[in-house]
Amino acid sequence: MLQIGHIFIVTAASGTGKTTLVSRLSSREQDIRVSISHTTRAPREGEQNGVHYHFVSKNEFEEMIAANAFIEHAQVYGNYYGTSLAAVESLKKAGFNVILEIDVQGAAQIRQLLPDATSIFILPPSMAELNERLINRGTDSQEVIQYRLGKAREEIEQCYLFDYVIVNQELDQAELDLLAIIRSAGLRTKAQHRNIEKILSE
Ligand code: 5GP
Repeated sequence: MLQIGHIFIVTAASGTGKTTLVSRLSSREQDIRVSISHTTRAPREGEQNGVHYHFVSKNEFEEMIAANAFIEHAQVYGNYYGTSLAAVESLKKAGFNVILEIDVQGAAQIRQLLPDATSIFILPPSMAELNERLINRGTDSQEVIQYRLGKAREEIEQCYLFDYVIVNQELDQAELDLLAIIRSAGLRTKAQHRNIEKILSE
């Protein structure tokens, strides 16, 4: 059957396990790709330019904003993050289902721009667990962790604006839940007009 790429917004407070969830799913499912964002934050250990992010300077990022290169962008924890039109268009044209792993501000912009996009919010099993995961991750300074924890509840309160909520209690189940949402979007009648027309034209 003909595959038409759809856009999925995946958002969560940091430490919820969203990146692991999304990268596991996209490495298993050939039709699902994660859009690579631009950021001005420094790479963490093990992160590669062009793979995890396009790491750019503040100047380069601001030039891209001026050139309207982003379909959304936001400042998160003092750094710029953005989704370029080019990153999404190339994947969508190739028929992939595209995941935008972005924050609540970016999600609000995409909902406005692309009302057909499906939005998913990933919740931690509890606030206590989120606290623990952030500390155990060990990638950020104590100051950054405290700031992120403070922000987490504010972000989680916005989950009501999203189409779906997944509680990431157990990674395998959360992955199945995310896949179910992606598959059901592709099965919507309006996503299958071309398949229906092809059958009716016989
Ligand atoms: P991190 O620095 O931990 O990789 O990401 C920090 C936050 O920025 C996360 O909530 C992540 O989802 C968000 N983020 C990553 N890329 C983008 C993007 O392109 N746009 C927006 N708005 N947020 C992003």
